[in-house]
Amino acid sequence: VFQLSVPLNFLGSVYRELRQSLLDMETLFNLQKVNVNIKEKLNAQPLTLRKGGEIRFENVTFGYHPDRPILKNATFTIPAGSKFAIVGPSGCGKSTILRLLFRFYDTQTGRILIDGQDVRDVSLDSLRQAIGVVPQDTPLFNDTIAHNIRYGRIDATDEEVRHAAERARISELIERLPDGYETAVGERGMMISGGEKQRLAISRLLLKDPQLLFFDEATSALDTYTEQALLQNINSILKDKRRTSVFVAHRLRTIYDSDQILVLKDGQVAEMGSHRELLDLEGVYAELWNAQESNVDDEEGEIRREEKR
Ligand code: ATP
Repeated sequence: VFQLSVPLNFLGSVYRELRQSLLDMETLFNLQKVNVNIKEKLNAQPLTLRKGGEIRFENVTFGYHPDRPILKNATFTIPAGSKFAIVGPSGCGKSTILRLLFRFYDTQTGRILIDGQDVRDVSLDSLRQAIGVVPQDTPLFNDTIAHNIRYGRIDATDEEVRHAAERARISELIERLPDGYETAVGERGMMISGGEKQRLAISRLLLKDPQLLFFDEATSALDTYTEQALLQNINSILKDKRRTSVFVAHRLRTIYDSDQILVLKDGQVAEMGSHRELLDLEGVYAELWNAQESNVDDEEGEIRREEKR
């Protein structure tokens, strides 16, 4: 018995290592930030999502350089299961919030809690398993389509991979390819469009099935059609299960229907509330909204003028 259990244990740990490194690679690609100083506690417990994924930042101060704080004593709560948005000027620290939550960095003061557990107390594996990101640009590995989807959860069966692809509405395209799911993609493989890549990312996410979901909106404007199609895909993932979903957004039109919107300014929470409430405040959000809407009007007017010509 002893002789048999040793190699099996060994294989098990190699497998876990491999699986972990693949998942880490995913988050690493997504956020392109690594920090070797982050170590989990010796007695770290797995994160348990007993409330369904409530996120709380409590008096958080953080800067990449201690003398240049990005977040200054920021306090806010993202309720479990809500559809939440974070907006604010470029460089104000929206993506930093996500990196802190993944624990790529630790806060200088204050703490970050998920369902009441400090992110510094839980195992990194369980923390990063709980969070999924729809990144601005989807990383693809130089591998087959099946493998690219399976990175979401590498013990998924072929059937589960196909099911995820179906739900992300990319299975038809894959099945039309001569090699189907075995088609190589990535730099050395077949070229696929940005929208198709995004659907692969969504199928990967469906396999991972995280309780906390972040959608990092691209800075560069997607065309309205692509953006709507993407949002529809994401909404269809969200609707069957209550998850905490956080949209980090530039264009307010993509997030105005959120339960709550947090406006970040100068490292602090400037305003928080629903779209309606924030418009009534006539503050930072209202100003941003009016500025963006008048741009949209200009663009639409421009298109109409073009069409008349
Ligand atoms: P955007 O809306 O343009 O995506 P953001 O609000 O997400 O921006 P962050 O990416 O969180 O902003 O960055 C906040 C600030 O921290 C910026 O001034 C940025 O230059 C700086 N910053 C980000 N990453 C690092 C880093 N690794 N080292 C030093 N400074 C950084």
